[in-house]
Amino acid sequence: MVEIERHDYDVVVIGAGGAGLRAAIETRAQGLKTAVICKSLFGKAHTVMAEGGIAASMGNVNSRDNWQVHFRDTMRGGKFLNNWRMAELHAKEAPQRVWELETYGALFDRTKDGRISQRNFGGHEYPRLAHVGDRTGLELIRTLQQKIVSLQQEDRAEFGDYEARLKVFQECTITELLKDSGAGGPQGTADRIAGAFGYWRESGRFVRFDAPAVVLATGGIGKSFKVTSNSWEYTGDGHALALRAGASLINMEFVQFHPTGMVWPPSVKGILVTESVRGDGGVLRNSENRRFMFDYIPEVFKDNYADSEEEADRWYDDPDNNRRPPELLPRDEVARAINSEVKEGRGSEHGGVFLDVSSRLPAEEIVRRLPSMHHQFKELADVDITAEPMEVGPTCHYVMGGVEVDPDTAASRVPGLFAAGEVAGGMHGSNRLGGNSLSDLLVFGRRAGAGAVEYVARTGFRPVVHESDVDAAMRRVAAPFEPGDGASENPYALHAELQQVMNDLVGIIRSGEEMRTALGQLHELKRRAKNLAVEGNRQFNPGWHLALDLRNMLLVSECVAAAALLRTESRGGHTRDDHPAMDPAWRGKLLACSVYDGSVDVAEQPQSPMREDLLSLFAAEELRKYYTEDELP
Ligand code: FAD
Repeated sequence: MVEIERHDYDVVVIGAGGAGLRAAIETRAQGLKTAVICKSLFGKAHTVMAEGGIAASMGNVNSRDNWQVHFRDTMRGGKFLNNWRMAELHAKEAPQRVWELETYGALFDRTKDGRISQRNFGGHEYPRLAHVGDRTGLELIRTLQQKIVSLQQEDRAEFGDYEARLKVFQECTITELLKDSGAGGPQGTADRIAGAFGYWRESGRFVRFDAPAVVLATGGIGKSFKVTSNSWEYTGDGHALALRAGASLINMEFVQFHPTGMVWPPSVKGILVTESVRGDGGVLRNSENRRFMFDYIPEVFKDNYADSEEEADRWYDDPDNNRRPPELLPRDEVARAINSEVKEGRGSEHGGVFLDVSSRLPAEEIVRRLPSMHHQFKELADVDITAEPMEVGPTCHYVMGGVEVDPDTAASRVPGLFAAGEVAGGMHGSNRLGGNSLSDLLVFGRRAGAGAVEYVARTGFRPVVHESDVDAAMRRVAAPFEPGDGASENPYALHAELQQVMNDLVGIIRSGEEMRTALGQLHELKRRAKNLAVEGNRQFNPGWHLALDLRNMLLVSECVAAAALLRTESRGGHTRDDHPAMDPAWRGKLLACSVYDGSVDVAEQPQSPMREDLLSLFAAEELRKYYTEDELP
């Protein structure tokens, strides 16, 4: 038996983005010995890339805002498929979480009278996004890390060891969740979480963490798509780890394509152009210079969006007496509109449309409000956004689907396994509103941490890992160095093929036939992936890392395609060419993915009916657009 590095903790948090850090702060603050593990450098997590802001109904810029309005906007954005309890908790608790960040040291942009400033964003009725220029995620991560350092200093004072109760393991990838053997606890414990197995990216050495509770906070899945705003870390690891451990994923058919990614030059295709550009007055035009979004206001949103340029422009100064510009429709609507313009031949030279802020704001104001965008376009595309429009098009950005969790505790179906942040499903329904992710991370990161603390206290047992499971985990990760007799496969080539399949067949507009073709191709890729082969040894070997990540990407991509095939309607981030309308009969149904013997199974399950007091926040005629007659009170 190979001896491997072993650590014992009360809680292991996998992921050091906003959700993971907030969860770890909670578990440590409540006295539990906590490990935070991340596969990139500490501070690099995806959260750091968030630009526009964090949504919370603090009412600083428009005092009419409150949690009920935020709740309504979130449900509308998700086309009423959201887990309403999560949307309720999120809307109620987001302001507290933002104020709490200030107590950790965050410095948000201010209003003239010194309050936290809030900006407009798509789908939000009032200015609601607290922000730090267009670098909000950086401030969020910086502040959470600062809080972690302060907790570590407390431990140093108390125990003489900074890491006595909170330690970060960076550049460490988890490949397997471990379950209890049943040897140490009461009967029936065998299905509980017992820890996690992984490897150090630099040395390739194996490591294991034994713990009764694991919080997954691993982010999204975007690297399965060719054009994406996501970085190399987003390979769906947490989604796949949860599935393989016996948890279920919901809403996997809903993938958000952000309307505005860069389209040129090719090397930067997909990089995000923040929605703040539109929130701060930027407009979308086609090659005929037409502000085309007025042609794409869907029936369900007609009452809330301006139908003329004059009214839309007046809204920026007088939002109480005018309707919002259609550029600020939810992301799914804007992405589909851009897609249609390009398809119908009214796109830009490089296959996008034009996003113009240069004719809308003075140059110095653009640089002040959007410093990263100014820098990004100047450096990467040689475009000065204060003088000319940007070329933009849809890019895979966010996955609404994720681990099915209890809304209050973030507990998954597997005892001891919790999930928060982008890896968790339910909160955003079929489409996430911009800014609602950063607030989701804090609200449910804290709740997942609290859920894990409560679970550890309640169960009170230490798990015992099956040694044979650890051996199997070691064999699995070592497999690409010992390929079988079949023709060996190159991980980079296979990844490129996967991305092409997902982009071409499971992208922004889908059809049943495309999904069937995609599933066929994904099964074939999965078969070939058994022969993935890498050269060299385990010391920093990116080809090997990718080979391991591919196992997760393939599994999660299959869930997306399989669920997309079954949902025969169009809603939010799932648009079916062959079923173009939203079908109220589907609103009450969730598709839950599980894995049995390595195969994905997708089953329909009913959505729990919304509580009466929350339902009464909506006008009857609005509900009628989404609900079946039987469901209405
Ligand atoms: P992340 O921040 O991605 O953290 C995931 C962590 O998990 C990382 O530390 C990673 O290393 C680790 N990890 C993953 N797999 C493993 C593994 N196998 N083993 C160990 N560690 C692992 N949302 C907003 O609300 N407002 C915005 O303005 C906004 N702007 C955005 C801009 C861009 C360019 C992008 C890409 C997204 C933006 N989003 C925004 C979305 C938001 O940033 C993400 O949804 C959110 O940050 C996800 O946070 P998280 O904590 O769930 O995961």
